[in-house]
This record gives sequence, C-alpha cells and structure tokens, in this order.
Amino acid sequence: MLTIGVDVGGTSIKSSLIEVGDPCDADSYQILKFFTLPTEAVKGRDTIVDNIVKSIEQFECTDKCQAISVASAGTIDWDSGNVTFATQALPGFTGLELSKTLSQRLGRRVVAINDAVGALIGEGMLGAGKKYDSVMMFTLGTGLGASLLKDKQLNAQSVVDTRLGHLCLYEGGRDCLCGKKGCAESYVSATALKKYGNENLYHLFKATDIVQRRVLANFYKDLTSVALKSIELYRPDLIIVGGGVIELAEYWWQNFLKEYKAATDTPIACASLGNKAGVLGSVYAMLNGTFEKQ
Ligand SMILES: [Zn+2]
Repeated sequence: MLTIGVDVGGTSIKSSLIEVGDPCDADSYQILKFFTLPTEAVKGRDTIVDNIVKSIEQFECTDKCQAISVASAGTIDWDSGNVTFATQALPGFTGLELSKTLSQRLGRRVVAINDAVGALIGEGMLGAGKKYDSVMMFTLGTGLGASLLKDKQLNAQSVVDTRLGHLCLYEGGRDCLCGKKGCAESYVSATALKKYGNENLYHLFKATDIVQRRVLANFYKDLTSVALKSIELYRPDLIIVGGGVIELAEYWWQNFLKEYKAATDTPIACASLGNKAGVLGSVYAMLNGTFEKQ
C-alpha cells in the first residue's frame, strides 16, 4: 500500500511517499520519494498549515494512499492530535487541532503525533531498536530529548516523554531555558557543546588541545550519567542516541563507549535512520497505533 509520512520542524518540512507491504513488518517499509520544503514559520500558523498540505499534495496521489500521517514539533496529545503547546518555532500552533485541521483540508483521516515521538517510533520499530522491547531515545539537538517506548505498544500510555533533559546534573550549575540550574541539557546537547566547546562541532571532535579534550571528556561523562539515570528509572532494553551530534559519530562514539561500557551493560546504539526516522515513524504509528479521537 502507498502511504505518506510528514515531519514538521521549525525550519523545514520533510515528506515521504512510502510503500508498505505488511504494516507490522519493519522490513517491508520502503521510501519511494523524499522531499523537503521550507516551513516558513515566521509567516505564521496558516502558512505553516498550507505548507504541510502542499508537502502532502505534491506527491499527486493522496487519493491512492491508505495512510497520511504527520509528526510535528510541539507537544501533541496522542489521543486527539491537538497541539497542547508549541514554542515560537511554530508560531500560533499552541491550541491548534492539527489532526482535525489537516483531515478537513485533505478530506480524509490524518493522524498527528509529536516529532520526537515520531523519530522514537521510527528508530524503535524500524531502525536501531527493532530487535528490542523497551527503547529509550536521547535526541541531542537544540536541547536534550529523552523519550521512552514501552514494550512496543503504540498508545497514549506507552510513549513517554521522560523530560530527563531537565534532570539536575549539577546542583547550582549552568542556567537552563526552563528556569532551573544545572539541567542535563545544558551539558548534553548540540547547543551546550557549541557554547562551551567550539561553534563548529566537527572542529571540537577533531581537536587535540587540552581544553577541548576536557570539554569532550566531560560530555562523555555527562551523557553516561543521564543514561545511567534513565536505566535506573525506566529499565530500557536499549538506549538509542540520535540528533545532529550523531552525524559526527565517527569522531566521538567509540571514545564515549569506553566511558559508558565501564559503567553499565545496557546496550546503546546510534540512531540509524537519520532524517528519515520521523516520516517512517509517523506512518508506522498510524498503521499500528491506537488513537482514541483521531
Ligand atoms: Zn532545564
């Protein structure tokens, strides 16, 4: 069957035409086409919605598609597909009935979920985590996302935003955007590495001077601390690390593993689907998930 998955971020909207053999079979998902459009978020909510619709209609086969699903930035209620909170990255999205709005525009059912959840489901069901039961995913980007997929169930109870990015790592430490001090994401995120290391992460990971090496050593130690906390609280069978920093994994992952493996036996892996995780995860969620009101 033909399906369309969409991944809406603050700067770009990715969309993909995906052929699916058996909805439950991870190996039967095949990306046929993949496009990126600008979100044009500064133009406001109506333009963003128009661009999401455009990203779907450009495939010119919506009437032949069995499923159309959107993973978007912002906090999105699993059961209703409503945006309960969005930052200025998507102006006007707070309160938007995203699933309902898109369903009306396209004249058919459209499911909406959160983008980090979409990436988690993509990696957990089709990517690095497909052989494991409970999967924790850290996304190292602007902040530190940490979400859990329990026992491969796809309903409101099994997909958990743990908010471990705001776990206090250092009492009285660096200021965090959330208003507290010493949060994990002030140390373990692309933003933190740039701020306290080097604007260009590639140069940081290749650096040989002692100050930069120290920044990296602390990063490995802090990422290990957050991982250990997540293991203590949630007992995942696998931890997946994704986000922009993973694109540079060849320069740091093995060094990090030495620190991590000395501390725990819980398996850990790099995300494997890159920027395709969200489009794949949103379609997988729609075909296999339980949604009360969308
Ligand atoms: Zn915080």
